[in-house]
Amino acid sequence: MCVECYIDKSRITPLLSPINCLKNHTQYICGTCGRCICIEHDPKRGLQRWNFPFKSLEIAKMYLRTADYTLKEACGIYEIENHKGKKSYKIFSNIKDLDSYLRNNSSKICKNKNPIFKVDDYKEFYSTQVRKLSPNEVEKYMSER
Ligand SMILES: [Zn+2]
Ligand SMILES: [Zn+2]
Repeated sequence: MCVECYIDKSRITPLLSPINCLKNHTQYICGTCGRCICIEHDPKRGLQRWNFPFKSLEIAKMYLRTADYTLKEACGIYEIENHKGKKSYKIFSNIKDLDSYLRNNSSKICKNKNPIFKVDDYKEFYSTQVRKLSPNEVEKYMSER
C-alpha cells in the first residue's frame, strides 16, 4: 500500500467520469505514487467527496487521504447502517463528529464506534501537490490506467 495515500492501485481514481473529474476538479496528486484523488469543494455545499458516504470500505479508503490532508490529522472510516441494515462507510475526524452526524441522521446507526480503518499518524509528504491538471497531464494519467 502507498505510504502516502493508503492504496496500492496508483491509477484507480477517479472512479466515475474520470476525464471530467481530472479536467475540471482540483486533485490531490500523491507525491509518492502519483495517484489523483478528487479534493474539489462542491460549490453549493462546500463539501468534498470524502464528506459523503461510500458504498464500500475499499472506496472510502481511496478518499481517506484527502480527509486526512484537509484536516491535518488521521481520520477514521466508520461503518454506518440505515434502518434497513444497509451499510455505508463514512469518514470522520473523531467520535464527536460521528456522534453529531448520528444525532442529525436519526435513521442511521453505527454499531461499532471504532474506526474500521485509520492510519496511526498523520504525515506530510513534501512532493504532494494540490491543483488542477493540465490537458497533457490528464491525457498521460488516463493512458497509464
Ligand atoms: Zn472530481
Ligand atoms: Zn500514493
